[in-house]
Amino acid sequence: MANRERVRSTHALILRRRDLYDADRLLTVLTPGEGKLELLARGVRKTTSQKAGHLELFTHAALVIAQGRTWDVVGEVQTVESFRHLRQNLEAIAAASYLCELLDSFTRDGEDAHAIWDLALLVLRLLDEAAVAPVLPPALLAWFTLRLLGLAGFQPQFFHCLGCGQPLAPGVNYLVLSEGGVLCARCGVQRSDGELLDVDTLKVLRFLQSRPWGAVAPVAVRPPVLRRVEQVLNRYVILVLERQLRSTLFLRRLATVRDAAVRDLPVEEKGDENAHS
Ligand SMILES: [Zn+2]
Repeated sequence: MANRERVRSTHALILRRRDLYDADRLLTVLTPGEGKLELLARGVRKTTSQKAGHLELFTHAALVIAQGRTWDVVGEVQTVESFRHLRQNLEAIAAASYLCELLDSFTRDGEDAHAIWDLALLVLRLLDEAAVAPVLPPALLAWFTLRLLGLAGFQPQFFHCLGCGQPLAPGVNYLVLSEGGVLCARCGVQRSDGELLDVDTLKVLRFLQSRPWGAVAPVAVRPPVLRRVEQVLNRYVILVLERQLRSTLFLRRLATVRDAAVRDLPVEEKGDENAHS
């Protein structure tokens, strides 16, 4: 990389770690100014390492980076935010893993990533706060996914018809995921690859895509609608990345376990209000 200082400082979020050689690790980190970086952390698997605790997954750290031959090398490191509540909650860990995997997939080396950085920290802070509450905010990951897709240049189009450009009306609409959007009733019937998209799912997708978290948080989305929204987003992300995300599978398995546990409890369903936009 041209014009990089021999030693530089940055804030970083640890997205991924791989063991290397006897005691080293290769880190994938997100930085605000340089996007995604691969960094060598020497000796961090030794029990005597002072750095190891600052380089855990999901940690927001302040790093000094020295230029290296194959990889740049982590020098001094300090924890800025450890998100310690998050680490004690399996569901929050799964959510943070999903977040990191998506960030890893949708960011690139050397690209300014300030907006994505702010989004990532906002969601991690929310997860950390929520980790001590009874439940995580249900729509947070769907909201994050839509935001990230927009910032990374893959914003799906839920407001205007892909065919004629007219605003989509509530009623019959067709989802065409391969093109990242929706067709109106008239354009959709002329095509064989559109799938019917119900009004509630479209409404929630639009709501999540166009509102800040502060407006989304207080709204209860009916669980079956939220599940359909998540399925649409999951399939779209897979299409965009052309690969299955491992952590999505993990989240889905976790949701299955949770749903089974909920089914066995004789409780009333709460939060049955539909999201309105
Ligand atoms: Zn149309």
